Amino acid sequence: MPQVIDSFTGRYAALGLLHRSGFFFEGDEYHSAAAAIEAAKILNRPDRVSFIGWNCKPWKARAMGKGIPQYWIRPDWKQVEEPVMLDIQRSKFSWPEVCEVLLSTEDAKLIYGNVCHDNFWGVCKCRTVPAAQRKYGIGVRCTGAGDNRLGRILMQVREERKAVLQADPDTQRKMTRSMSFLAPTLTTVLQAAS
Ligand SMILES: [Zn+2]
Repeated sequence: MPQVIDSFTGRYAALGLLHRSGFFFEGDEYHSAAAAIEAAKILNRPDRVSFIGWNCKPWKARAMGKGIPQYWIRPDWKQVEEPVMLDIQRSKFSWPEVCEVLLSTEDAKLIYGNVCHDNFWGVCKCRTVPAAQRKYGIGVRCTGAGDNRLGRILMQVREERKAVLQADPDTQRKMTRSMSFLAPTLTTVLQAAS
């Protein structure tokens, strides 16, 4: 087990915002944390409709998020976005398949490493991208220091899930059963896995 996991790709892709898995947030079903966090900015729940459900692809949610009209956005968004992200991650990782990935990181330090200059949720590694691989206009902009708020939230949720499982080792199996009301595709996956 590495001491630091700073790339949410490959076997750790489920930790990332763009990973597709179903969960509920404020009564609506989302299929990526990216979609849920963009939708959560929007004050009126009916206006969140394009972000809800399996058809909203994570990268598309992110792109649509940039186009949300300013007057739709919660006025207190900057104050609440971190607790909202915590709620989203708690809901996402209550789902057994992704929870297993989170728990498989054991005690490793989790860092949301990225190359999109996101030093709020993660740590941008644009400095370390070799010049030959600087495609898609990735320029060197960051120092390599970041707040890593998503990484810290994930570590907190990991501790919470560990505590829940310790108290009741049967939680995962019960969750799998109770999630059967999710989209049919997910239910099939869950049934196949159990
Ligand atoms: Zn950067």
